[in-house]
Amino acid sequence: MTRRRNNVTPQLKVIFHEAYVTDYPTASCETPDRVEAVIHSLRQYYEVITPTPASESDIRLVHSEGLLKSVKADAGLYRAAAMAVGGAILAAKMALVGEPVFAAVRPPGHHASPNSHWGFCFFNNIAVSLEKLIQGGEISCALVLDIDLHFGDGTDNFFKGRKEVVVANIQENDRERFLKEVDRALTSHDYDIVAISAGFDRHVNDWGGTLLTEDYFTIGRNVRDYALSKCDGRYYAVLEGGYNTAVLGKNALALCRGMSSGG
Ligand SMILES: [Zn+2]
Repeated sequence: MTRRRNNVTPQLKVIFHEAYVTDYPTASCETPDRVEAVIHSLRQYYEVITPTPASESDIRLVHSEGLLKSVKADAGLYRAAAMAVGGAILAAKMALVGEPVFAAVRPPGHHASPNSHWGFCFFNNIAVSLEKLIQGGEISCALVLDIDLHFGDGTDNFFKGRKEVVVANIQENDRERFLKEVDRALTSHDYDIVAISAGFDRHVNDWGGTLLTEDYFTIGRNVRDYALSKCDGRYYAVLEGGYNTAVLGKNALALCRGMSSGG
C-alpha cells in the first residue's frame, strides 16, 4: 500500500471472503444471498481483496468477554463474524493510506454494542476498525456516516461521549432532507477519516421506501469529494443492512461508483 500521490485517487477496491456467505443461525431475511448479490455486482468492476479474520484481542477492543464467548458458541457464526470484523479492519487500514474501499461483509455490525447484540449483528465491524486506528494513534477524529434505515445504536453506544468519533445516524424519511443531512454531517467538523455504515434498506424498493439508487451515487461522491479535499482521501464503507436482493447489488454498485475516481 502506498500513499496517494499527485492527487490521483487509486481505483476503489472491494473486500470479500467466502465466509460471509455462511448459513449461520440468524433471522430468515438476513440471508447469504444478500452478500452474494452485492459481490456478484461489484466483482465485475472492481478488484476484490481477501481479508484475514480479526483476532480475539481486536474484538475485545469493543466487546466484552461475555459477548465474545456467546458468539464463539457457534463455530460457523464466529468464523463469519470474525472475518467481517477483519474485513472492516483491512478497509480502515487501506483507507488510512488513501485507498478507497468497500467492505462487502456479512454479518452486519451497527446494532452490536459492547455487551449486547441484536438486529442480525454480532460484532460491531466498523467500531472495531476505528477503535484500532485510534488505539494505534493513527487518527484523532473520525466520522461514522450511518445511512442505514435503522439507527446504529451499537456504534452510538460504543462511541458516545468520545471526542475521537462523531457518529451521524441519518434518520430522515424524505430524500432531499436525507441528502442534506449527509452534507451537514460531512461539513460540520474536520475529520481524519470517514467511514460509511452502508445500509441500503432505505431504498424505495426495500423496507424504508425513501432513497433512489442514484442517491447512493450522490452520497458516495460527496464523501469522496470531502475526503479528497479535507482528509487525504481517507474514506471507506462497510456493508450493513439491505434486504431486497433484487436491488441490493445495483445500490451497492451506485455507492461504489460515487466513491470511485472514475465514477
Ligand atoms: Zn437496517
